Amino acid sequence: MNKKGHLINGALLGIGLPFITAPLGDQASVQADLLTLVIEIAKFFPPIVLGALLPDIDTEFGKHRKTLHNLPLLAVAILYANQFGNLEYVWIGIATHYVLDVLGSKRGIALFYPLSSNETGFPIGVKTSSKWANLMTVAITAFELAVFALFALVLFPNFDFQLSAVEQAIGGIQ
Ligand SMILES: [Zn+2]
Repeated sequence: MNKKGHLINGALLGIGLPFITAPLGDQASVQADLLTLVIEIAKFFPPIVLGALLPDIDTEFGKHRKTLHNLPLLAVAILYANQFGNLEYVWIGIATHYVLDVLGSKRGIALFYPLSSNETGFPIGVKTSSKWANLMTVAITAFELAVFALFALVLFPNFDFQLSAVEQAIGGIQ
């Protein structure tokens, strides 16, 4: 997708994800519910949007859809949060950027770069210039939110989007 698509994707996730992490109706009053929701949006929105825009910086240097479109970069973002306590939640924007590029656009991305330059794509994608691109972006955003909801509300109640489990795993290795 193009920058506008990733901006739409990141912004919708930054607003949508808090409805999963802080569901309405789980507190004593409506005011408390709304206040928590606003705080969650303030927490998630900037880092997710930043993460969503970050991979396409490789249009300016390196190889587009390769240099900043790979799983090692995603791992670095996750490790940063856990090792240095910054860039938390940026991984969400990066991961969903990859999903949008792989599922939504005709050209895939090199997930295993620099080990392999092969681009992984999905046959349902549309051209980023297509009139269907925005609709595709919104549909994939809904899919991403559904996956997050499945994780955080069904499979792993109170799923930790800061991925503290990674920190514990690294602690176990050291
Ligand atoms: Zn991209």
